[in-house]
Amino acid sequence: MSASLLQEARRLVIKVGSSLVTNEGRGLDEHAIGEWCRQMAMLVRGDGSGPAREVIMVSSGAVAEGMKRLGWSSRPSEIHELQAAAAVGQMGLAQMYETQLRLNGLGSAQVLLTHADLADRERYLNARSTLLTLLQHGVLPVINENDTVVNDEIKFGDNDTLGALVANLVEADALIILTDQKGLYTADPRRDPEAQFVHEARAGDAALEAMAGGTGSSLGKGGMITKILAAKRAAGSGASTVIAWGREPDVLLRLSRGESIGTLLVAPTHKQQARKQWMADHLQLRGSVQIDAGAVIKLRDEGKSLLPIGMVSVEGDFSRGDVIAVRDEQGREIARGLANYASAEARLLCRKASTDIERLLGYVAEPEIVHRDNLVVTR
Ligand code: GLU
Repeated sequence: MSASLLQEARRLVIKVGSSLVTNEGRGLDEHAIGEWCRQMAMLVRGDGSGPAREVIMVSSGAVAEGMKRLGWSSRPSEIHELQAAAAVGQMGLAQMYETQLRLNGLGSAQVLLTHADLADRERYLNARSTLLTLLQHGVLPVINENDTVVNDEIKFGDNDTLGALVANLVEADALIILTDQKGLYTADPRRDPEAQFVHEARAGDAALEAMAGGTGSSLGKGGMITKILAAKRAAGSGASTVIAWGREPDVLLRLSRGESIGTLLVAPTHKQQARKQWMADHLQLRGSVQIDAGAVIKLRDEGKSLLPIGMVSVEGDFSRGDVIAVRDEQGREIARGLANYASAEARLLCRKASTDIERLLGYVAEPEIVHRDNLVVTR
């Protein structure tokens, strides 16, 4: 079952850590970045590795590259120095991805995110819409933490957590964490001759955390433990995680062909099920909208989005990004989803065509009240 997991994965989040990107701190490794970009471009086009995939890159390396540019040979302990280094290094990092992806015929986009952005409902929806739009346009988003304003990854993670949060955000099928180690061992192989390589396990299995305790490289902060925790988090939205050595030849292409490389941490819950569960867990709904019989058929039977034209009334006080219930005219809940508009705006849009949104509100977020990707039918 596991080999086909990556073969079938259509939406991938690929995360690379500092020591790989900067070749142990010697500055941005153009050859390595070029190799990943070549492979990612092939994945996006569907060349030689199965169907076309959607790919999002999460790359560290800003701090390490910034340190090099500033002539610092050892990592400063003060966070604001690291944040300054990240701001310097991010310029080079973005430029290198841009150049290498363009050489491979792919457009790129820089996206700087924070954990807080993804915890906030409205920003979550904004980030999600932007990333999905970039993917629709065949552009490869290259994400890093916005190190100027926060320092979660500088302190703890080297972007492992961010990679998982992005996988949750876009409901990726798989998270591929490329690192400077081959994968997970049952114990530290440098100290324990009995240590065995873990080829496959269940993401979230508590035993993994004990195995991973303490292994880390000096440059990035994220050791194996942050990767194990990232896999657990990614599994929350149904994404399985692979931890593999980033310098393995053709690693991304081979993984996508189903080859077993590194450690595969399988998500126990399927993506659709995970989303349903997540929405169902939102017991505290902020509000609801009532829709007409035609819209019920479109939503429930035809798998379409909810458009303003089918919306009859709006109850409650909600913001963009809140989970709301969608009810039929008898008041029965038929679906739940993330509102694209706040309740006050939605009230103005009842029974209106999507083409009227700009005239009524002065802007258009999306043509739908709830997009079908953010909606689950509950009856
Ligand atoms: N976001 C940081 C970077 O890209 C995290 C890595 C680190 O702390 O070295 O450099």
